[in-house]
Amino acid sequence: MRVELLCTGDELVTGLITDTNSTYLEARLFDLGVKVERVVLVGDVRPDITQTLLEAAARADVVVVSGGLGPTADDFTLECAAAAAGVPLEEDARVLEWLRERYAARGVPINPSALRMARIPRGSEPVRNPAGSAPLVVLTLGRCRLFFLPGVPREYRALLDNEVLPRIRAELESRPGRLFRAFRLLRTVGIPESELDLAVAPLAPSHPRVVFGFRTHAPENHLKLMAEAPTQAEADQALAAVEAECRRVLGRHVFAADGEEYAPALLSALGRAGATLATAESCTGGLIAQRLTAVPGSSTVFIGGAVVYSEKMKTAWVGVPTEVLERHTAVSTPTAVAMAEGVRAACGATYGLAVTGYAGPGGGTPEDPVGTVYCALAGPGFATRCERMSFSGDRERVRLFAASHTLEMLRQ
Ligand code: ATP
Ligand code: MG
Repeated sequence: MRVELLCTGDELVTGLITDTNSTYLEARLFDLGVKVERVVLVGDVRPDITQTLLEAAARADVVVVSGGLGPTADDFTLECAAAAAGVPLEEDARVLEWLRERYAARGVPINPSALRMARIPRGSEPVRNPAGSAPLVVLTLGRCRLFFLPGVPREYRALLDNEVLPRIRAELESRPGRLFRAFRLLRTVGIPESELDLAVAPLAPSHPRVVFGFRTHAPENHLKLMAEAPTQAEADQALAAVEAECRRVLGRHVFAADGEEYAPALLSALGRAGATLATAESCTGGLIAQRLTAVPGSSTVFIGGAVVYSEKMKTAWVGVPTEVLERHTAVSTPTAVAMAEGVRAACGATYGLAVTGYAGPGGGTPEDPVGTVYCALAGPGFATRCERMSFSGDRERVRLFAASHTLEMLRQ
């Protein structure tokens, strides 16, 4: 099945907003085994939209169009659709009724510009929009089915999920020679994308039914596995086989699969072990605590944390001895170790986690330039561990990777 996307709106071609509607749909279609062939952004120019619709409809089986269905003067996508199909726009009684109901429910009188939304190309099918006014409009042009959706992401997504994707799925399932698919997303940390690729590349030849996909989602890298086969059982089997091998070569870099996120996975592992955690953060300024507390119910594991940005607070709050700071500086193994041990003791936690480093752009020393980060883990039954890391990039990236790597110490 060939699918193309068209997004309309001046704001998309003048740098005002980013086209997130396409990425949302691309990800959902990829889960159905369909790769979008082409995405076009067009400003609010009638002949351009009409021409693009004609070209896309001539090539594709499905075209999904976003934007320009609203009541304002710059909303004329359906006018262009009618022009492309060579039919007039006509007021549709069903849409009119939906609009009347919607306005009545809100207790506001319907105005003439809102009524424009009831005008759809002759022969097209309107589908009620549960999240807004403008309906989804389905139009057939030759052998191509075109779906026109409102641009507002909330409405676009609701109509896609509930109306458009089920139709595309049904169409795929009714095709002869249909292939069944099985998916797995393996989420990794601590391994660069290029190394991830290198590690799994030798597996590809022995798994001809599997497509390997890579996505960077800093600081994580994701490996997407899609198995295709004539039956679901064979697809599931092919997927299970490749997943096992990928997990073997990637080892502990894989922290979760599919929709499971890093922090919840880490917290549940700690929770199962009955452990608690406290943090002392310098260069990350609370990023670690933020990630942990973003998870509902994290308080059973994460007791609390301190942002000890200055030397004074490193001493006052987590008891880093002033001699350690004077002798070794605030960015050093002894300081990170003292922070981890200090916060562990202060909070009475199973584990104390600490991070201190130079996030840049200024600072650093010849031995420890910008990007150098020390992270430490204190816990029961082992000598406090400390790692010295070196991250490249701007301040934001260094802080992001510092937080991520520090949390990783808990999984080692
Ligand atoms: P409205 O009734 O709001 O006019 P519409 O169907 O006419 O809806 P547009 O006017 O094109 O849609 O877009 C409405 C808003 O939705 C835009 O201002 C923008 O914020 C957002 N939007 C539009 N297209 C996209 C897109 N491709 N990706 C992300 N957001 C978008
Ligand atoms: Mg609009």
